[in-house]
Amino acid sequence: MDVIVTTLMGLEALVGAELRDLGYPASAIAVENARVVLDAGDDYALACARINLWTRCGERVLLEMARAPAADFDALFDATRALPWEEWIARGQVITVDGYARNSALFGISACQSIIKKAIVARLAASRGLAPGSRLVEDPARGTIPVRFGIVDDVVSLMIDTSGAGLHKRGYRPLRNVAPIRETLAAALVRLSLWRPSRGEALVDPFCGSGTIPIEAAMIARDLAPGRQRAFGGESWHVIRDAFAVAREEMAARESRYRDRMYPLFGSDIDPQMVALSCANAARAGVADTVRFYQADAIAGDREGGLHPRRLQTETEATDRLVVCNPPYGERLRDPEAARAIQAGIGVICLPGGNLRTDLRLTVLSPDEAFERTVGSRADKRRKLYNGMIKCTMYHYHRYAVTSGGKS
Ligand code: SAH
Repeated sequence: MDVIVTTLMGLEALVGAELRDLGYPASAIAVENARVVLDAGDDYALACARINLWTRCGERVLLEMARAPAADFDALFDATRALPWEEWIARGQVITVDGYARNSALFGISACQSIIKKAIVARLAASRGLAPGSRLVEDPARGTIPVRFGIVDDVVSLMIDTSGAGLHKRGYRPLRNVAPIRETLAAALVRLSLWRPSRGEALVDPFCGSGTIPIEAAMIARDLAPGRQRAFGGESWHVIRDAFAVAREEMAARESRYRDRMYPLFGSDIDPQMVALSCANAARAGVADTVRFYQADAIAGDREGGLHPRRLQTETEATDRLVVCNPPYGERLRDPEAARAIQAGIGVICLPGGNLRTDLRLTVLSPDEAFERTVGSRADKRRKLYNGMIKCTMYHYHRYAVTSGGKS
């Protein structure tokens, strides 16, 4: 049975790398569009548990029960009924079915849902010796089995979701602020920006909002599992429940190595309430001792400005800094004019005359396609990423570090 990790578009390769870091060979990993497929052989249960706990950039972990041709409803029904659902679904458990179809003769989602559900119920009724057409009693107290299907090119993939809530929900961030970046994407930004703490480089988010970017960076640096504080749907599913206990033990051993190490991590925001929220979130994430938050207007022109070299020097006590942020943008936070004014401010302060200042590297995520024009400098590298449904670009200004030899 293959393990499938779904991802935001643009993060597939990062998730592939995460699976290799967990010890799975590259030959068992296939990076596809918005998902990564792992053939873990007989070890699928442990793989599901480990990946749920450790993927920072993946959205969900599904276990694929089977793949079969399904060009019409009869084929879909037969392929579904042929599977040993009685091994996977216990008496009383609630069965939910959801999915998608693309490029296939079957396209009505609700019709496919009801066919699949009927086929599963028919199989379970037969295996429990009930009369054909019997209904099953479902009791939410016995747990829910979320069946997922994907029909692509007339082939159905039948899967069970082992994550429950999406994996970006780590458990440290209440849903309070206006436009937070997804945790999975914040982790990806940190990974892609190639932060170099071993060289004393400080990581600073001057528009920190709820603190997601520095908090994810702290968890990466300390090798803390992103899923350490939360529960997963699969933990109450008998097929993989025991594997979660094993994976949590492994996690505790692995986490003990760096959990007390200190890293230069900082976040600031113009809004004191956001600073307070970031502090509370960092405490919930278990990294409050290594991330410091303070109030600053990032683009104020004086020495108090959050991006001013003097202020950064005082706050971080480091001479090299990596600035990683997603500044406010038009549609959701402010009017476009105000968002542009902030970008222009970033340009004036960090990219004077179009050249990157020598004391920092800059990674910015923005949905604004005019970003480079507004800051007055072309990025050295850009990459398309999605914050949920919003298409964004990650702009890297790392040129100084690259051309200055000694610093790269
Ligand atoms: N990455 C953040 C979301 C950033 S939203 C998160 O994880 O939640 C943008 C943030 O920029 C908001 O919190 C807003 O208060 C802050 N902001 C707006 N103008 C600012 C300015 N001039 N200086 C610093 N912060 C500012």
